[in-house]
Amino acid sequence: MRSCKEISKLVSSSLERPLPFRDRVEVWMHLKMCRLCGAFWRDLQRLRSSVRRQVTEKEQDESIRLDPSSKVRMQTAVDTQNRGDADS
Ligand SMILES: [Zn+2]
Repeated sequence: MRSCKEISKLVSSSLERPLPFRDRVEVWMHLKMCRLCGAFWRDLQRLRSSVRRQVTEKEQDESIRLDPSSKVRMQTAVDTQNRGDADS
């Protein structure tokens, strides 16, 4: 049986990479029994989903900033540049 400290380490590292099956089972069993680690796990999940939400919002912001007309302007600029290279 692992200690709470070990479990919380495993839970933290599970955010970066998937845990081996055995560790996942141990963490799961521990979380079922231990209220403290359960609360820690829920906090981490909340944190993770809020980080994910912020990243998604940021991506959407950027796609809004690059509206179709500026894409056309950029494409035109690139085309003009390329034509200029071909002429010289
Ligand atoms: Zn615990």
